[in-house]
Amino acid sequence: AEADLRVRKNARPPVHINPPVDDELQLDADLRWAANNGEIVAAYQPQIDLASGRTVGVEALARWNHPKHGAISPAQFIPLAEANGTIVQIGRAMLAHACRDAAAWLRSGHRLVTSVNVSAVQLELDYCVPYVRALLEEFSLPPELLTIEITESGAVRDLSDAQDQLRALRNLGVGISIDDFGTGFSSLTQLNMLPVTELKIDMSFVQGIDGGGHHIVAGVVGFARGLELEVVAEGVETDRQLEVLRELGCDRGQGYLWSRPTDFQGVCVFLGDEL
Ligand code: C2E
Ligand code: MG
Ligand code: MG
Ligand code: MG
Repeated sequence: AEADLRVRKNARPPVHINPPVDDELQLDADLRWAANNGEIVAAYQPQIDLASGRTVGVEALARWNHPKHGAISPAQFIPLAEANGTIVQIGRAMLAHACRDAAAWLRSGHRLVTSVNVSAVQLELDYCVPYVRALLEEFSLPPELLTIEITESGAVRDLSDAQDQLRALRNLGVGISIDDFGTGFSSLTQLNMLPVTELKIDMSFVQGIDGGGHHIVAGVVGFARGLELEVVAEGVETDRQLEVLRELGCDRGQGYLWSRPTDFQGVCVFLGDEL
């Protein structure tokens, strides 16, 4: 019988076990645990008003410090969270961190607009509007100090389904920003139908300035001006980029030139607060 088994085994084509699949399954389980146990935390990256040089906002960015693999990029775990449903817990956690911390900065005298990334998948899940309303109340946070950044997602082709949710969020008084503008599903037609208050110029266009290609940035800034939207440049790394963005009249900048994403206390230090 043993020989028989060996023959059968040998007769089968070799099974190709792809190690990443195993890792993904483990990662999926680990993410479920992390999301349910408060292990997804917020880092914040300052946003600078280019005319005055003052810090006027921060963007909240999800961080997961995996016990074995160390820091895992949100570019990797957010799509996984959207697929396994933990985006609901993560989305709630990020909104709660942001509202609590924005309220704390306000109490220490800093009116920072805190931006939170929300993907179209999250909006379709319907929990955002009541949750945001409850958080604003809980922390007595003026709604204009919260902005929702709509990020692209592979799973959602356009924002028409999210329209009602966005309108309801806007009606609460929070800002609505289109992230990575110019790279995704944010067509001009859609933009016209959505209650948008801000555009974020994708990092790829900002970095294109170094090669002499400032035309897209100039176009988006002009476009935002015409529609009376705020415009933020992300991924600003060099003085040259800053100079061009200032000349073009871009409102705000965010990038390693000023600060990498840091924790709550790191922002306090950046603001010059004693700790
Ligand atoms: P994003 O919202 O466009 O965020 C900007 C990304 O650029 C961040 O990467 C930030 O750390 C990085 N960055 C900022 N300044 C610079 C710079 O000067 N140079 C370079 N090279 N990079 C810079 P991060 O934190 O890895 O986030 C990646 C993406 O993951 C975000 O892109 C956003 O789409 C998504 N994400 C992050 N947190 C959340 C979240 O809480 N919810 C959702 N739905 N998505 C999130
Ligand atoms: Mg963003
Ligand atoms: Mg972006
Ligand atoms: Mg991005």
